[in-house]
Amino acid sequence: MTTDTIIARCEAKGLRMTEQRRVIASVLETSDDHPDVEELYARAIAQDPKISIATVYRTVKLFEEAGILEKLEFGDGRARYEDAEREHHDHLIDMNSGEVIEFVDPEIEALQEKIAERLGYRLKGHRLELYGIPIKKSE
Ligand SMILES: [Zn+2]
Repeated sequence: MTTDTIIARCEAKGLRMTEQRRVIASVLETSDDHPDVEELYARAIAQDPKISIATVYRTVKLFEEAGILEKLEFGDGRARYEDAEREHHDHLIDMNSGEVIEFVDPEIEALQEKIAERLGYRLKGHRLELYGIPIKKSE
């Protein structure tokens, strides 16, 4: 686990950190959900109204290419982002509300390793998204 901030990791990768990129990096740093570009833009202009949505697009693309952000897609065609250094977890997407629930399941983790091994691979990573609708309790 790393304790480096997104800004520190950007600097370590040699990215030129303009004032606006710093604002976007700090917005990402304080986000513990999975914002898309429009959500990031709304949070960024609250800190610096001069930031354009095009700058947010370019900056998240740059951070993603540098391996600082992970790009996620939850079936609605919108790219969402989260800090690539966050501890591993999988996602369950509520298809009614769009809410994203994070979970880790040791049985699934172990099962995936077993499957990879059976196929002749050592597992280096995975991505799992579950899509569901809430079960209504006793109507
Ligand atoms: Zn997540």
